[in-house]
Amino acid sequence: MKFIISGGGICGLTMAIVLEQQGHQVEVFEAAAEIKAIGAGLVLSTNAIKALKHIGIDQAVLAKANLLDSFDITLAKGEKLMKTDAVKLRSKYGAIGNATIHRAELHAVLLGLLKDKVVFNTGKRGQEVLQDKDGVTLMFEDGTSAKGDFLIACDGINSPIRQQLLPSSVARYAGYTCWRSVINHDGSFDNKNATETWGKNGRFGVVPLTDNRIYWFACLNTPIAKDPKMKAFQVADLKACFKGYHHPIPQLLDLTVDKDLLWNDIEDIKPIQQFAFDRILLAGDAAHATTPNMGQGACQAIEDAAVLLSCLKQYKSTTTAFQDFEQKRIPRTTKIVNSSWTFGKLAQATNPILITLRNFILKITPQRVNEKQMDFLFDVEF
Ligand SMILES: Cc1cc2nc3c(=O)[nH]c(=O)nc-3n(C[C@H](O)[C@H](O)[C@H](O)COP(=O)(O)OP(=O)(O)OC[C@H]3O[C@@H](n4cnc5c(N)ncnc54)[C@H](O)[C@@H]3O)c2cc1C
Repeated sequence: MKFIISGGGICGLTMAIVLEQQGHQVEVFEAAAEIKAIGAGLVLSTNAIKALKHIGIDQAVLAKANLLDSFDITLAKGEKLMKTDAVKLRSKYGAIGNATIHRAELHAVLLGLLKDKVVFNTGKRGQEVLQDKDGVTLMFEDGTSAKGDFLIACDGINSPIRQQLLPSSVARYAGYTCWRSVINHDGSFDNKNATETWGKNGRFGVVPLTDNRIYWFACLNTPIAKDPKMKAFQVADLKACFKGYHHPIPQLLDLTVDKDLLWNDIEDIKPIQQFAFDRILLAGDAAHATTPNMGQGACQAIEDAAVLLSCLKQYKSTTTAFQDFEQKRIPRTTKIVNSSWTFGKLAQATNPILITLRNFILKITPQRVNEKQMDFLFDVEF
């Protein structure tokens, strides 16, 4: 069979690896003119590592990753609200644990795993798809087209394929915007513990990567999407916002230069009820983009590939495998999108009563209860 994949991001590449393993011909069409080392860091949670293992590529990815020992949520002055012991998670869920990786390095590893049966094209922006009993045709912005037996749309949150099939499904702005960067340090910063700090001026995350690098993110509330005031923000503005926050937040901002700031509004898509459309399948952010509050967007894209692998092994008919994929993936991704949305609202709360209540509940919740809540995320098999 020949599969066409629209979008060569984390989902598109992982899907290509899986389909190639199954003996299919694959052609990936990526809109970007060239593959650049873009992006900041990513957390690959236990569930994503299990999915990578199911596909047989966990070791290649982990060779570039940093294993975390813990993840804490703290207040602006450093007081701990919640601690997650990642070492314990390793033994509990039978996977190596939570790892962090530079997005560009994950991308490079996945690209390097593509074999002869995969053709990777750049500068090809898919616009529209047609399907009939013989196959699919993907039409590109440049007027050309490509044919295949099946199409997997991995073209991200603004997927034109999803919007063709489900026109009302558009990105929804979460009410906060985010800056990210990766800095190099001299080895004096903690490289095993990630933190997220919730303060009245905003939220700041610190995620250590390999090779004495730290990925940080900062989220601020703003009612309008694509706010020009936020677009103009530079490191100095972030320093002013996070002044007085605990170590190493000001120090990380001191090490950041304006040209290395990445800025995105935080968005998701309201859960949809259909991923499979005969010969077309939606996957990754195109199907279930989530806010990054639970660090699950890329993890779910990787899970998609692991689940599709199992479905294709189980069913001879690809359209039946697509339907089975849809049934397996919709309940889980819907729960994650909705939980992540709520978690983000709590983390970005500004109402003093809500903040006091939230902090009180988090402080008194026993660690075993927090850990139990993670079962649904991590206790997963493919
Ligand atoms: C601030 C932030 C922090 C995040 N942190 C984490 C984290 O810690 N852990 C985690 O698991 N996830 C995280 N995510 C989410 C994660 O980045 C996404 O869920 C993940 O990248 C989805 O992969 P994808 O391949 O489905 O989509 P994308 O990564 O968006 O890739 C889509 C690809 O398709 C291409 N494309 C777009 N349109 C077209 C078209 N018309 N035709 C052809 N190609 C097209 C794009 O150029 C891109 O290469 C974060 C997201 C943000 C915004």
